[in-house]
Amino acid sequence: MSDSETFDIIVVGAGVLGVATAFHIQKNNPEKKILLVDRYLAAGQANTAMSAAAVRNMFASSTNQMLTDSSIKYFEHVQNDLGYELMFEKTGYLWLLNEEQFESSNVKTWMERMDKSGISFKVYNKEQLQDMIPGLNLNFENDEEVELMNLKEVDYGLYGGDCGVLDPTRLVEYYFEEFKKITHIKPRFGVNVKKLILEADPKLDLPGEPYVWQNKKVNGVITEKSEELRSETVVLATGAWANELLDPIGINSGTKAKKRQLFVIHAEDKKQLHDLLFSKGFNDLNCIPFTILPSAGVYFRPQLQEKGFWIGCGDKIGRAYKYIQTDDDLIPESAYYENSMYPVLSKYFPAFKDTRPVNSWAGGYCYAPDAIPFVYEECGVLVVNGASGSGIMKADALARIADALYRKQKDAELFGGKKISTKALSIKERDVEIENVII
Ligand SMILES: Cc1cc2nc3c(=O)[nH]c(=O)nc-3n(C[C@H](O)[C@H](O)[C@H](O)COP(=O)(O)OP(=O)(O)OC[C@H]3O[C@@H](n4cnc5c(N)ncnc54)[C@H](O)[C@@H]3O)c2cc1C
Repeated sequence: MSDSETFDIIVVGAGVLGVATAFHIQKNNPEKKILLVDRYLAAGQANTAMSAAAVRNMFASSTNQMLTDSSIKYFEHVQNDLGYELMFEKTGYLWLLNEEQFESSNVKTWMERMDKSGISFKVYNKEQLQDMIPGLNLNFENDEEVELMNLKEVDYGLYGGDCGVLDPTRLVEYYFEEFKKITHIKPRFGVNVKKLILEADPKLDLPGEPYVWQNKKVNGVITEKSEELRSETVVLATGAWANELLDPIGINSGTKAKKRQLFVIHAEDKKQLHDLLFSKGFNDLNCIPFTILPSAGVYFRPQLQEKGFWIGCGDKIGRAYKYIQTDDDLIPESAYYENSMYPVLSKYFPAFKDTRPVNSWAGGYCYAPDAIPFVYEECGVLVVNGASGSGIMKADALARIADALYRKQKDAELFGGKKISTKALSIKERDVEIENVII
């Protein structure tokens, strides 16, 4: 084993959550020596780069509303006031719902909670939707295929105008560049952490310690190259790989990964698709919002720069949970697009008929059981994960909570001034409402 190096904090994982956390901790603790490491060769190359990078404050739980609303406002501030281009565009989000879904207690509670939190949204009826999106098929009558496929007819649209899309690479770059301006230690890439160093606290230097009667603490990490990097605190922002490092020391992260994929359809060569992409009336960009279909979990994001759509699906039963994300999860499945997503998409939006993806990629969500992220400290490890498919849009708030927890504050102040207890997202003293608006 080579000589060890010592830091105040080691942040493992340079995805959006790791870089945002490193930045906020360094900003508020300027004297601390923070080392940021990742096994990839640059920041933001894992699930952050695979994301649709859509951002919404339209959640059912007040916790997620708060995390996302304050993060989105911070992203707007970064772009509009600090002049850092994040490609943040307010496309809005549009949930297409049938009557039964709209009248359900879940949707009623969702709308009530948004009202209470001051999150603005609009409801469109069928006629309004038909006017604004002429390419939307609102009549499934006498269509045997839709019956076979269990597709629900659209009756309503629930629209949030403060939601949108951004470029995740730019967001990571922003936090990373700002972190580099204030850190004392150069971030390191190509560093694969193999193990957390768990030791007795205090160390008695007895053979085989820590014993069961001793307090225990993580004092750093061992890398694949057997380097020993020691620190008072280890921040674990390893997303869908958190279990690999936490399991061996007996901490149950409670998260599981699930494969998620995106398929790109270009609209330039097909007039109906082009017209759909530039649907007017929803937003100042005169484009179709990020749209979620009423059935099968299919959704699309408008991609204005490449004049196209990114199509995704939040498939539930039948798509395995994995303990950690594996290399297989990085391979998009063209048959899945053709047999599962395309038939649904083209029923609601016939303009997609006979189109083929020009690109595709896959990654993984890191799910928490209640779909609310985790931020907690245990034995010297500060864990930030479980973003459940919405880590981009919560990144700023989670990083501020991690920083406040590091500073042993009771509450974290989010951008805009709202406060949240630093225990609210912990495992042991969790204080959240279960989230059920998951895509
Ligand atoms: C298809 C898809 C669509 C999505 N769409 C959206 C969306 O529209 N909006 C949204 O907000 N979110 C979306 N997400 C989710 C979002 O991408 C994640 O929540 C977010 O990127 C999580 O950030 P992270 O930093 O935790 O993870 P990651 O970006 O995965 O970063 C974790 C980092 O840890 C590193 N690491 C792991 N283990 C080790 C180790 N042992 N040693 C060293 N380094 C290690 C990895 O290399 C990686 O860089 C989507 C995800 C996918 C896959």
